Amino acid sequence: MKKKTRSPGARTKLRTYFEANVGKIMTSAELHEVANGTSEWARRVRELRNEEGMQILTHNDRDSLAPGEYLIETLTRLPVISRGISGKMRLYILDRNGFTCQVCGAGAGEESGCELGKKCRLQIDHTVPISQGGTDDENNLRAVCVGYNKDKSNLKVSTSRDAISVMVLLRRQPRDVQLEIYQFLKKKFGDK
Ligand SMILES: [Zn+2]
Repeated sequence: MKKKTRSPGARTKLRTYFEANVGKIMTSAELHEVANGTSEWARRVRELRNEEGMQILTHNDRDSLAPGEYLIETLTRLPVISRGISGKMRLYILDRNGFTCQVCGAGAGEESGCELGKKCRLQIDHTVPISQGGTDDENNLRAVCVGYNKDKSNLKVSTSRDAISVMVLLRRQPRDVQLEIYQFLKKKFGDK
């Protein structure tokens, strides 16, 4: 039953607030206040979406919403397995990862380190699988080769996190800058 004198938690308050404001645009300042002023309010909103399936919309879902605006149009809950990754989210993740496999460091079209002998084609992967409680939240998504199989951990060539982040930067440079770096490395390592 009720917890003695404590007021309801932030998540409960937010849930109630969303349920009372169907069809109205809510702002982040408003939600922050509803959630007892906790800085965790955004996380609680994500939990309502990802763990409870509430269809809370943001500017990522609707072009008509500005960043920091929230809208719920229906109280129908979505099944919480996977809400599916939108094309927009897919592109966002690929861009954030510099179109680079986050396991082997290959760029799209290069030789894959996850599946030898194959060219790297990128897919969006759940770092924590949905079946193990992972969500479609952007923090749980990353770009990896289609051939990457986390169950078999089939990676032949392991690439360090440092190398991957440098390659992400490198792929974003214009061709002449890449050539400059290539010349530098060639000079340094010769024809090894
Ligand atoms: Zn890979």
